[in-house]
Amino acid sequence: MRLDDTIAAISTSRAVGGISVIRISGSRAFDIADMIFTPVSAKILPSEMDGYTCAYGYYSDGEGNKIDDGVLTVFRCPKSYTGEDCVEASCHGGIYVTEKLLRRIYEAGAVPAEGGEFTKRAFLNGKMSLTQAEGVMDIISADGEAYHRCAEALRDGRLYGRIRGVSDRLVHLLGEIAAWVDYPEEDIPEVGDDNIIAELSDILDEIRRIQSTYDYGKIIREGIDTVICGKPNVGKSTIMNLLTGCERSIVTSAAGTTRDIVEESVRLGDMVLRLSDTAGIREASDEVEKIGVQRAESKLDSSRLILAVFDNSRPFDDDDMKIFDKCRGRKNVIAIINKCDEENRLDVKKITSQFDNVINISAKDGNSISVIQNVINDIFIDNSITDNAIIANERQKLCIDKAEKCVAEAISALKFGDTLDAVNIILDEGENHLLELTGERTSEAVVNEVFSHFCVGK
Ligand code: GDP
Repeated sequence: MRLDDTIAAISTSRAVGGISVIRISGSRAFDIADMIFTPVSAKILPSEMDGYTCAYGYYSDGEGNKIDDGVLTVFRCPKSYTGEDCVEASCHGGIYVTEKLLRRIYEAGAVPAEGGEFTKRAFLNGKMSLTQAEGVMDIISADGEAYHRCAEALRDGRLYGRIRGVSDRLVHLLGEIAAWVDYPEEDIPEVGDDNIIAELSDILDEIRRIQSTYDYGKIIREGIDTVICGKPNVGKSTIMNLLTGCERSIVTSAAGTTRDIVEESVRLGDMVLRLSDTAGIREASDEVEKIGVQRAESKLDSSRLILAVFDNSRPFDDDDMKIFDKCRGRKNVIAIINKCDEENRLDVKKITSQFDNVINISAKDGNSISVIQNVINDIFIDNSITDNAIIANERQKLCIDKAEKCVAEAISALKFGDTLDAVNIILDEGENHLLELTGERTSEAVVNEVFSHFCVGK
């Protein structure tokens, strides 16, 4: 990477707005600022300004012609986002004028920043860990309150801190074992296998607790894979349309109209549901319907949330029983008793005795959305996790999984009577995976991969 270069990019979005901000970072940032900017009142040039101060003035081209006016802010190394000398030049938020000013900054010696290069420099200059940098990206991507809070926690270094805690304990243990193994003649107390196993089991528990946050993070980022199932005509498509707010599924009173799976993403409060409305699960009468039913059944198996719909206006029958069978033993099932505006002919007790989460609605009534939303929030929103460390992406997951495997393997090796040398090698590898997670020991390729997802200007 070209750390010697001074980079520049537009940090605000490339759209017309009130103001735009161009960020310049690197050893020549102040020289460049002196060349392009003349403060109106202050007698001093940008390169003479204190860090965290700003000045109003004019931006001009190489011939001294005015390009625009605006405010320039100075950040001195190391007290800046990147840890380098930085300048943020704000100008009027027109695309043409912003790009003209950017061209002028390039002309004065800056080079275009690559996607995420400012944050990458912050990471390389020790301003943040790799997980914190990933948190920055998540804050930008966050499209809901829970996601935003998770991203903030990541950016604040809560995952980093927790991983560091595990890593420190592992390093301490490695040191103790190594000292005892390497200097047997010294008077170092023996670390008994039982003590090592006890400490490692504790570390393993903590790693597994961190691992378990991954699922929650995935739900927050990607939404909940949700399937709506129920026998024909219970109102699945109507519920789907209620949630999506549009007539995507074909709603008719003839059984078996939803032949295939209709998929749609909907935001429900803080959660995104990736909804599938399936063909009614029942004995299919024709080939096409059979395929639809098979697909519905496999979708049911792979989904994280099942909305099992029952019809309040019809008696419980064999087709309802099939839904019972499908949902038996499954986590996260919400039984929806629909058509509560009609006379009750359904044995409701049968449903309430089978499911933990039962709601009564009329899909024809728009207010039913909040009833569904509340029960989903109760099941999925976990405020204790949202504000805490979570495994936020596949890269982090891979590292923590490998670390978990190593620690578990080390425990087994000890129980099998392997040498402490052998155990130390396994634990050392585990420690490496933790450092890879935080970015303290990681390859350039991994770092490049992380930052390749960032936008230009961040
Ligand atoms: P699906 O086969 O399970 O997808 O059922 P549909 O959504 O196609 O609905 C079947 C029929 O029930 C349609 O005529 C809907 O208008 C009707 N329906 C759906 N929900 C309700 C409800 O809450 N109350 C009443 N009265 N009718 C409903």
